[in-house]
Amino acid sequence: MKLSAPLKRDALLAVCSLAPPVADGACAWCAAELPARRRTWCSDRCGDAFWANHWWSVARSTAKRRDRYRCKRCGTRGPKRPTVAAHRTRAAYLKAMRAWREQKKVGRLEVNHIEPAAGRHGQLSCVHHLDNLETLCLPCHKEHTAASRVQPATEGVAAVSASSARGRPRA
Ligand SMILES: [Zn+2]
Ligand SMILES: [Zn+2]
Ligand SMILES: [Zn+2]
Repeated sequence: MKLSAPLKRDALLAVCSLAPPVADGACAWCAAELPARRRTWCSDRCGDAFWANHWWSVARSTAKRRDRYRCKRCGTRGPKRPTVAAHRTRAAYLKAMRAWREQKKVGRLEVNHIEPAAGRHGQLSCVHHLDNLETLCLPCHKEHTAASRVQPATEGVAAVSASSARGRPRA
């Protein structure tokens, strides 16, 4: 995969598969006519939808919400952060918070890029489209990452399989 330089918002919109063709006076997300004094989005909703599909921290929390805070593969729920209101005393709340932090080490949910982000987490990028994201529990995410590391890169697949085919042990 060829990594290109990060794109600015407008350049990204021009190539984004989710955005309509760029047109003057039209919303860059839904193509509706722009109301007076609006320059890119017809509404905050369209701007939010753009960020939710292109900026990692927003995309990540949007994906978790969409997946109802469950692992897409095994259905595990992430540990729920305690709320102050649910506890009668501050001590009880702090105790619940400590338990939650412990649980998070092994049971937290992470969001996986189906097509790998390849270091683009800090960039505005179409790799963060919500349809490229899935919520996974930590064990499923680790399994997925290990499995994708075993697969050879797309380039050189033919060469690798040709040279290793003969010596490969039979299962
Ligand atoms: Zn719009
Ligand atoms: Zn899982
Ligand atoms: Zn995009």
